[in-house]
Parts: sequence; structure tokens; C-alpha cells
Amino acid sequence: MRRVYLDNNATTPVLPEILETMRPYFGEHFGNASSIHHHGQETRAAVERARESVAQLLGCRSSEIVFTSGGTEGDNLAIAGLARPGDHIVTSTIEHHAVLNTCKHLESTGCAVTYLPVDGRGLIDPDEVRRALRPNTRLVTVMMANNETGVIQPVEEIGKIAAEADVYFHTDAVQAAGKVALNVNRIACDLLSVSGHKMHAPQGVGALYVRKGTLLQAMFHGGRHERSRRAGTENVPGIVALGKAAELAMQGFENGDLTRMAELRDQIERTVLDQVETIGVNGEGAPRVPNTANIHFDHIEGEALVIALDLKGLAVSTGAACSSGALEPSHVLIAMGLRPDQARASLRFSLGKQNTKEDVDFALALIPPTVARLRELSPVYQKA
Ligand code: PLP
Repeated sequence: MRRVYLDNNATTPVLPEILETMRPYFGEHFGNASSIHHHGQETRAAVERARESVAQLLGCRSSEIVFTSGGTEGDNLAIAGLARPGDHIVTSTIEHHAVLNTCKHLESTGCAVTYLPVDGRGLIDPDEVRRALRPNTRLVTVMMANNETGVIQPVEEIGKIAAEADVYFHTDAVQAAGKVALNVNRIACDLLSVSGHKMHAPQGVGALYVRKGTLLQAMFHGGRHERSRRAGTENVPGIVALGKAAELAMQGFENGDLTRMAELRDQIERTVLDQVETIGVNGEGAPRVPNTANIHFDHIEGEALVIALDLKGLAVSTGAACSSGALEPSHVLIAMGLRPDQARASLRFSLGKQNTKEDVDFALALIPPTVARLRELSPVYQKA
């Protein structure tokens, strides 16, 4: 059976070029990057080359890159590494749970947290950030691109506000890296997290940008790896893969990959809007990354549609990967003002570099008839 994967915001397949680049580091180049002999020097050099590539993608110095196990660790290290009891943190209601639950945890240790709302398009008003600042605000943490809707926040304006107030600014750029051009100086952030498996490197590797002079309390205690910012023997194959993924991401900005991706995304939205009634695009009208379409198909249970499409070979999702299977409607869509039934009726289609026009045509041949069939079975749906 043909299978098409349009759930790249959950995870992306490792691209063949990336797999080839990392493969020798499982075999012939196996050294511990901290060892001083030949084997260690070889892997140390590979780690440092990868650090250069990631730094180039983010527009920073390589010494400002800390390799992590992924986005969750980067978010935790950035936020919990800075905040102390008595500090105030500003964040938003639509963050990934890696940020939201870190903030919740810090509340239990004596921090105060302000969760800013978003408008109907999923956007934070930078003026709300300004108004939320208090004398003891230590950190503003607002994501760059939302994992469910792809909506891009005004991070440059927020960064400016934080800098003027002399408050640290962290942005979770896990869903932005490789999809939009990134520059830590333009964003004026002090900390920025990325994750390998959202940009065609494997699961379990990531990076945190830490602006020079930003002192973080380490989360792991151990050796002096990563300039004492993250103890633990480096995941050399993963880091090498992340470096290659950063290079491919930079090429993608120049070779038209992202324009093609946006065209495919627009084709999904246009065709579905044309052929299916009582639906809408979540986040429409807001700036969005080019790979994500989030659509509410009213009068349908999103999970049922995901399962029906999966049985026909199409993989999509109802929202954040970690909440799949949970009955709670998406906190992001609820924050945007959708009714719980509309939030539950929403599906996310997310493209990756491997997807083709044929994949999208396959998906579009399945979606309208599958929605129609589920609606026929629905006791609450009346055809207009
Ligand atoms: N932040 C965002 C916006 C994400 O989408 C994800 C993963 O879905 C994470 C953080 C967590 O990243 P990781 O899976 O690498 O821990």
C-alpha cells in the first residue's frame, strides 16, 4: 500500500545525505570526543565542524552553541538555567509543553509566571509583553513558530522590548529552524533552542544558542563537556547529522525548496477549502512557516479522521504529537478562541523536504471523500 507522510512537525525522516554523513561515526570514527588520542581528535574535529554549521544557520559564534539531546532539553536548560526563586517569567499560552511545563515547575519553586494570550490568528501582541514586565522579570520566553499552526510570532519586536528592559529573551525555534531564515542578532535573543529531528536529522539531538556572557545553571552535573554548560559524552553521530541538516537548511533558503513547500501547502489549503464545506484554516492571515496547514473540519472528530486517513495510507495528526491519543482539545487552538469541538475537529498537515507534488495529490484525493463519509455518519451534521 502506498503511504504518504504529512506529519513532519512531529518528526522528519533522516534524509539520505544526512544518514550518509553520520554513518561513519557509528563505525570507523567511534572515538570519544574528549579523548586526546587520534580517535578522539577525529570526532572532536567533526563535532566542532558541526558546531560551525549550526552557528552559521543561527548567525552566531560557534562558541555560543551548546549541543543538547533535543528541543525539550534546550528549552529546560534555557529557562530553568536562568530563573531563580523570586524571579518573574513572561511566556505565552501557546508554547510547547517543553516550555509550559518547565514554567509550571518553576512556579512550584517560587517563580511567578505570566502566560500571555494570543488573538484569533494565534499571534501575541508585543505590547502585552511590555505591559507584563515587572521589576523582577528575569526572562521572556516566546516561541518563534508554533508546532500546531505554524504561526510565526513577532519575535524581533519582542526581543527588542526585552533588550530595552534588560530582560533575557529565549525563543523556542524548534519549528522555525530550516523553515525560515534565522538570525539571533536580528531576533535579539539571548537563548534559542532547535531540535535535530524537526529538520531531517535524527531524534535525540539538538542545540541551544547561548549568547556570550549569559550564565546558565547547568542541569546535568558531570564532566566539563560543552564548556561546562552540558555535561555528558557528546552524541557524535547525532551532532554530525545536525551539522549536515543545518547546511541543507541553508541551501534550502537559496535553492527554492521553501517556495516549493509553500506552494504545496497552499495547494492543500486551497483544494480542501474548495471541496469541503464548513471548514477553515487555523492561523489564517498570520505569518506562517511554509510547511504547515492546520484546518478545522467542523462536525467531525479529528481523531476519527486521522485514523480513517491512516487506514488509506495518509499520516497526519490532530496537533502536538505528545497529545495524540489524549482527549483534551489542543491548548493552542483553544487559546486562539476555537470552540472545543472545533479544536477537536482540527487536523495538521505538515510537509518535509522529502514530500512531492504526487504526495500532496494523493492526500487531496483522500481528504474530501473521507470527510464526507465521516460526516454522513455524524448525527449532528446537516449538509448545507
Ligand atoms: N518545541 C517545539 C515547538 C516542538 O514542536 C517540540 C517537539 O515537538 C519541542 C519543543 C520538543 O523537541 P524534542 O522533541 O526535540 O524534545
